Amino acid sequence: MLKPCAVIGQPVDHSLSPAIHQAFAAQFGETLEYSKLEVAEEDFESAVNNFFKGGGLGMNVTLPFKERAFRMVQKFDELAEMAGAVNTLYLRCEILCGTNTDGVGLVRDLRQTLHQPLDGMQVLILGAGGAARGIVGPLLQAGVAGITVANRTPARAQQVVDWISQHGGEGQPLMARAFDKLVELSPDLIINASSAGIDNKYPEIPADKVNGAICYDLLYGPAAIPFCQWAGQQGARQVSDGLGMLVRQAAESFQLWHGLKPQVTPVVEALRAEPLPGLCRDPTEKPLQHRRNQK
Ligand code: NDP
Repeated sequence: MLKPCAVIGQPVDHSLSPAIHQAFAAQFGETLEYSKLEVAEEDFESAVNNFFKGGGLGMNVTLPFKERAFRMVQKFDELAEMAGAVNTLYLRCEILCGTNTDGVGLVRDLRQTLHQPLDGMQVLILGAGGAARGIVGPLLQAGVAGITVANRTPARAQQVVDWISQHGGEGQPLMARAFDKLVELSPDLIINASSAGIDNKYPEIPADKVNGAICYDLLYGPAAIPFCQWAGQQGARQVSDGLGMLVRQAAESFQLWHGLKPQVTPVVEALRAEPLPGLCRDPTEKPLQHRRNQK
């Protein structure tokens, strides 16, 4: 039996992390206790401390605590620093450490599943929350030619760019924009890192930006449908949801905690065979069958 792990957030009901990590453990003939810890805002730090004091091995952090986790850790790596957010916690010599595996998961999925080399690409990221912060650094490391962060609230996009420029991304080709100020851009890759799909919406950018571009939604399940469907209708070259990223970021955490490298593809395929739980506002809403490529 592997040492216990958990995901902490608010809410965490919808989280697929327990199923993913337990499927990884089964690949090695192991069982894993992986719990969902839903905590109130004020209880985050004490819940993390209690988990590790109680013998917990590793913890994933999800909304809305990733930035708090970054501020809490005593040691973080370059990816966590660039993101200003941590999604993976662990102890080393009694020191609480943190990293961010979201962006690595995305880059691996783009390269391995979609066969996209990324070098030289112009990237447009829609959204400026924790997820956007987590993916900029790894995309830059992957050799993209430039990244524009566009957001419904443009000031937040500027904050992301400023943070990254001051935390390891000095001199990198980064820009912040509003959705209606994208005229001169011709993105090769558009990443929807907004949570608009949870409300059955998609970011309102000019449709001509999507034509011919690769479009990737970080969301998965029913919440990914609005953007993926719209992008397909506008002539996107390739469309994908974020399920592969989700499983790959989990694989990074799993390997860090247990020292075992799991197989990702069988877990993605098993999840794709099932209707995924939606990240819908209305919990009584019936999940739709997941769709990947709309074209
Ligand atoms: P945040 O709440 O921090 O940010 C949400 C972002 O979405 C903001 O930029 C917000 O804009 C924007 N937004 C919300 N509604 C709309 C709308 N109707 N139109 C345009 N923009 C909108 O969330 P995160 O950044 O942490 O996460 C974003 C999504 O990515 C989540 O839904 C999460 O599930 C997913 N995710 C997936 C991962 C994976 O492995 N596949 C990993 C990490 C996250 P504004 O600033 O104007 O409010």
